[in-house]
Amino acid sequence: MTCDLDVLSLAAPGVRSLHPYQPGKPESELRREYGLRDIVKLASNENPLGPSPKALAAVQAALADLARYPDGNGFELKTALATRLGVSMAALTLGNGSNDVLELVARAFLTPEHEAVFAAHAFAVYPIVTQAVGATARIAPANPPDHAMPYGHDPATLLGQINDRTRVLFIANPNNPTGTWLNSAELEALLEAVPERVIVVVDEAYGEYVDAAADCPDALRWLERFPNLVVTRTFSKVYGLAGLRVGYAVSHPAVADVLNRVRQPFNVNSLALVAATAALEDSEHLARSQRLNRAGMQQLQDACRAWGLRWLPSVGNFLCIDMQRPGRDVFLELLKRGVITRPVDNYGLPNFLRISIGSTAENARCIDALSDVLRA
Ligand SMILES: *Cc1c(COP(=O)(O)O)cnc(C)c1O
Repeated sequence: MTCDLDVLSLAAPGVRSLHPYQPGKPESELRREYGLRDIVKLASNENPLGPSPKALAAVQAALADLARYPDGNGFELKTALATRLGVSMAALTLGNGSNDVLELVARAFLTPEHEAVFAAHAFAVYPIVTQAVGATARIAPANPPDHAMPYGHDPATLLGQINDRTRVLFIANPNNPTGTWLNSAELEALLEAVPERVIVVVDEAYGEYVDAAADCPDALRWLERFPNLVVTRTFSKVYGLAGLRVGYAVSHPAVADVLNRVRQPFNVNSLALVAATAALEDSEHLARSQRLNRAGMQQLQDACRAWGLRWLPSVGNFLCIDMQRPGRDVFLELLKRGVITRPVDNYGLPNFLRISIGSTAENARCIDALSDVLRA
């Protein structure tokens, strides 16, 4: 359809140059396009076990009340989170996924006069929320490929991008799509060095997957010391509730107060609220999910070793593999074999492919398909 109206010129300046977030390819799309039936999706870092049965039961029970608005303050979920995390309820901000919370930070703290800083290869939502409010993004060069944490965040370059106009610093720990992380000493030193007027968002979407041995810190321990710290978490990853959209921020109550001012009154739906609350109580499901991920990570790394392929260090539920050829080509070949992975050329990593850890059978399917592609 032609359009005589130049709609783009009417859009806010930041929005004009925005590129929409590219999600992992949905299974249903591949089924339509290729007529394939038996499809394995390892493209969006979802939990192969799905949600806790307790969460599903809570959703079932809540269906009867769908005519009612949700609890706009999320009292029960906040109570459960506050108890679990050892923080006050006033420190919590709930979001329609943690992406919503990231956007709340941008809307509350950034203007066209301000800047946000984040690292190259960092999670794609940071530039989107920054540009959408007309603020300027400053991108800090990442570690070089030969670094112990290749393509990971570099605290020195992040600090180097901070100036008088900086209002927000986004850090994904661990980062998606690389899997890399800042260790306790690095993150603590960075928090100490950043001026207090810069809100530091530490995005811990994969925090529950982190192995204690890895020294990838739980940033909640620094909340008391740094009133400018915002830690974000989600129920989309290890809790297996990506479809319901629920995440949260933990911060100083004064920051939470500001975030809650720009929040939509009912941003978290009633099914998400009850599912998340129930999911928090199922520590067994959490432990099972963590164990399955650890085993799957081993399974995929063993295969990479056999192929002679290198991967980036990861404490998440995904592995970013150097394919030594365009990752998108491998992605397309895998699609034909019914396996959906994630090319990361749009993240400045053209030769890498990000593969989520699935069930043992899903990983095996992916490994077989990839062996086939690599032989061809
Ligand atoms: C998946 C992911 C999120 C979570 O997004 P939701 O909106 O909570 O589903 C946040 N940050 C990073 C780095 C992620 O990879």
